[in-house]
Amino acid sequence: MSAKIYYDIDANLDVLKDKTIMFLGFGNQGAAQAQNLRDSGIPNEKIIVANRADSYAEDAKSKGFNVVSDFGAAAKDADVVFLLIPDQVQPRVFNTEVAPNLKDTAAIVVASGYNVFFKLLNFKPTQDVIMVAPRMIGSSVRSLYVKGKGFPCFISSEQDGTGKALEIALALSRAIGATKAGAIASSVREETAMDLFAEQALWPNVIMLFREAFSVLKEAGCSDEALCYEMWMSKEPAEIFERAAEDGFIQQLKHHSTVSQYGQLNGALNLDGSAMREHFKNILYNQVLNGKFCKEFSAIEEDLEKEGDANPLNVLYQKSEASELGQAEKRVRARLAGLL
Ligand code: NDP
Repeated sequence: MSAKIYYDIDANLDVLKDKTIMFLGFGNQGAAQAQNLRDSGIPNEKIIVANRADSYAEDAKSKGFNVVSDFGAAAKDADVVFLLIPDQVQPRVFNTEVAPNLKDTAAIVVASGYNVFFKLLNFKPTQDVIMVAPRMIGSSVRSLYVKGKGFPCFISSEQDGTGKALEIALALSRAIGATKAGAIASSVREETAMDLFAEQALWPNVIMLFREAFSVLKEAGCSDEALCYEMWMSKEPAEIFERAAEDGFIQQLKHHSTVSQYGQLNGALNLDGSAMREHFKNILYNQVLNGKFCKEFSAIEEDLEKEGDANPLNVLYQKSEASELGQAEKRVRARLAGLL
């Protein structure tokens, strides 16, 4: 299956003429996307940054934006709303403060599929719902734009209330600099499936592999210092992925020694992936796509703002740091900092 890729030529900025564009949130993505959009020619007076009165608001003011702290008042004026506050607070804030005040024909833009896919946001059927999801952290969204370069991005029209949702999605993508390198047609289902799969299936296995490898090599007599450096502190894994992006997932192996190439290719081909495939399918279908994780996460969402052990994330950090790898790294880092 190949996806459609949209470029600048596919997008018409005139679609945004006279539209008032509200950025809810001026954090990682909000700050970057609002500045890019303005630098693409959207008049400053047509942009509203909605943020609680604090350091993010001050940052937006210092960059010359019109900042309001009353989200409802901003929503009343908005034709387009970029939802750029953390995913876990979006339903609470959007449904209570923004949605009741929005125009019937407003376009709501998300940068992540999660809340739309799991139907946690209340939209009117006459409104447009769009995903413009950069595959980059906010600082890179801004710095690549400033350098005149694009960045990878997924876009989709999820609800076409006005009949112009895709046109608006393309114009906004161009205005934030996403169609310069090519924006990939996607969907909130695809984006959410890939994101949560990576977070709940792929990377947990990577963490587990490193944790177990560490223990096996330590038991075989390797020192904590040597292991930490060998396994990640040298930044070798980061370089491997950098090369994979540039040269190819398999072709990057050619930068390694012949012994290493032989060992890696032969070793990987000899591994039977069928049990892992079943495990992956189980996570994808019975945890991610069926909404099980979403339900569990919604139940703890408010606890994530608590202090100490009342915050489940803190407890997970403590348990993970208690592993042999976690403890060893703490000692090595303290020693390197001259603390031991
Ligand atoms: P941030 O964590 O940077 O968001 C911070 C902003 O949200 C600030 O303006 C903050 O203002 C506001 N905010 C936080 N809590 C609340 C609240 N309870 N009520 C009102 N405003 C609040 O978010 P990101 O930019 O990281 O993420 C925004 C969206 O972009 C998400 O959907 C995310 O999935 C997506 N995304 C993020 C990427 C990234 O690199 N981070 C990459 C691609 C997509 P204040 O605290 O002052 O109220």
